[in-house]
Amino acid sequence: MSTPPPRPRPASDNGSAFTGDDGSLMLAAYEGWQADAYRLTFGCEGEHGCQRRTALGIRPAIARFGRSMTDRGIAKRLRCSGCRGRNIGVQVTTDTRGTVTRERDGPAPETRADFASPA
Ligand SMILES: [Zn+2]
Repeated sequence: MSTPPPRPRPASDNGSAFTGDDGSLMLAAYEGWQADAYRLTFGCEGEHGCQRRTALGIRPAIARFGRSMTDRGIAKRLRCSGCRGRNIGVQVTTDTRGTVTRERDGPAPETRADFASPA
């Protein structure tokens, strides 16, 4: 018996064409109907982090960093506006206001914040 050659992993194995180089999802994966329902929440982490948190909407993130940028890729480029720390963690969170409020009020005010700007 010989060992069969390794087969290429199917595309569905790792989430799709939207997986970026660092293994996290590209912003393009959230485009369309999902774009306003999700946001990126960044936190100043690490031993010396000040735990400051801020959020960035998917649309402004794409406008600023491009569709092929990943959430972790953005985190790596950010610097905390509070303590200048560079150990930035990121989570994708949902806008919990609901569709009606989102459509009436637009993006949540906190997602308009610029993490790198002075407080
Ligand atoms: Zn900080």
